[in-house]
Amino acid sequence: EADAPPAPGAAARAVLKRVFGYDDFRGDQAAVIEQVTGGGDAVVLMPTGGGKSLCYQIPALLRPGTGVVISPLIALMQDQVDALLAVGVRAAFLNSTQDSFERTRVENAYLAGELDLLYVAPERLASEATKRFLQNGTIALFAIDEAHCVSQWGHDFRPDYLGLSELAERWPEVPRIALTATATDATHKEITERLKLGRAQHFVASFDRPNIRYRIENKGEVRRQLLSLIRTEHDGDAGIVYALSRKTVEQTAQFLAANGVNALPYHAGLDAGLRARTQSRFLREDGVVIVATIAFGMGIDKPDVRFVAHIDLPKSVEGYYQETGRAGRDGLPSTAWLAYGLQDVVQQRRMIEQSPGDLSHRRKLSSHLDAMLALCETVDCRRVNLLGYFGQGSVPCGNCDTCLLPPQSWDGTIAAQKLLSTVVRLQRERNQKFGAGHLIDILRANKTSRVDQYGHDELAVWGVGSDLSEQQWRGVVRQLLAKGLLAVNDDGFGTLVLAPASADVLSGAMTVSMRTEPERSAGSGAGAG
Ligand code: ADP
Ligand code: ZN
Repeated sequence: EADAPPAPGAAARAVLKRVFGYDDFRGDQAAVIEQVTGGGDAVVLMPTGGGKSLCYQIPALLRPGTGVVISPLIALMQDQVDALLAVGVRAAFLNSTQDSFERTRVENAYLAGELDLLYVAPERLASEATKRFLQNGTIALFAIDEAHCVSQWGHDFRPDYLGLSELAERWPEVPRIALTATATDATHKEITERLKLGRAQHFVASFDRPNIRYRIENKGEVRRQLLSLIRTEHDGDAGIVYALSRKTVEQTAQFLAANGVNALPYHAGLDAGLRARTQSRFLREDGVVIVATIAFGMGIDKPDVRFVAHIDLPKSVEGYYQETGRAGRDGLPSTAWLAYGLQDVVQQRRMIEQSPGDLSHRRKLSSHLDAMLALCETVDCRRVNLLGYFGQGSVPCGNCDTCLLPPQSWDGTIAAQKLLSTVVRLQRERNQKFGAGHLIDILRANKTSRVDQYGHDELAVWGVGSDLSEQQWRGVVRQLLAKGLLAVNDDGFGTLVLAPASADVLSGAMTVSMRTEPERSAGSGAGAG
């Protein structure tokens, strides 16, 4: 028995047990580790929490030399290195937060062959000096973490990542492994091409997170809806609430705290010390709810986050998936809850119109938003839609709101025509700015002072929409915007204008199926409706 050759992967398994204390590999880990340890390249697509780190850490320990890890998450490098040092792995990092004394110490350790892993910020690696320095030591592998940052089409592009293509030419014999948790087919291709990973083996895990229940509902009084969600389903649970602005973050945290929830705000405007304390309370205490901008959560490994709530519409499906992915890493039932309304759509369309950058940049933002809206407005399984976005087929899941309570749909063609005709008439009044509220007032014959001022009760469309409630009309406007059948002007006022496709609806060439809006009085919470 002593003479039997070691089983393939035996060395990797021994390291897994001895260093990291785990008995078995998960998913593709063993195969990836075998590929990279053997000197081959790899592209690894694995959801958050899937266990990407071991895919390069173990090969780095098994191969001679230092594993060089390129990561944009500078704020996390210290934590990652500390965690490795704690299990006896010789790790260090190089980034802009260090003084020159500290940097020299790390560089000397690398040159002396005393490092198993070296984390490097991409902007460091962009400099010729760093590359020349690296050449004087032995590199076990390059791991390119958050590899989607190389994609100009993606939601998280970092120019420094483009320079990483040079690694292939400069170190042709060093294996490279690119890893990401957010990859559409297009991003996957871009990673492969731009990082010159033509000879890599590809490992694409399922992106499904079956224990997460996806729910998306209409925004009313969103803080009350959120409080109701927490009280009825997640009392005492740890959770993360995402909002777009710092002000909303502050106000929501205050509101929750005033209502007995252990909630803390987190955003980039708070001082670093407070942010660090908040983060460590979230990790160490039970049942802390963090209300945050997207600045919170990257790389945070807390297994028992029971819910992730979005009270503003995320800008992309990638972002939404990444943020909701922070729920339920332990595999237990968890909730991803999102509330969104007409105002979100108007605001984001407007922000895109006004955003700096060229047309192709705005088109990219627009297509990201469109995909997000399609997920929100779908009458089919959320999970099927979500996984479909990442190029993965699936069947209705039975664990999302549309599966559990299939939404009704109705033929909204006539309502859409009424609304669009009103837009046509108002568009004729040059330089006037009319948003959704005024349009709905006209349709429902609601005599406001603005109506009087402009004589809009004289319009042919005055009162033609009194069959629908104000809330139903807001739903119509929102869904038309979401479907690209109505547009928002870039005047900064949210003025509604026709979209190119509106003509087909007006002419009757196109019918419009709409989701039935659940009738709910403003402020009655989730679960109550
Ligand atoms: P990712 O980078 O893909 O989000 P991580 O590498 O941070 O995921 O791993 C997520 C968590 O899973 C970590 O706590 C890690 O220690 C744990 N983990 C990874 N691989 C295994 C394994 N084979 N067995 C048990 N736990 C694992
Ligand atoms: Zn479903």
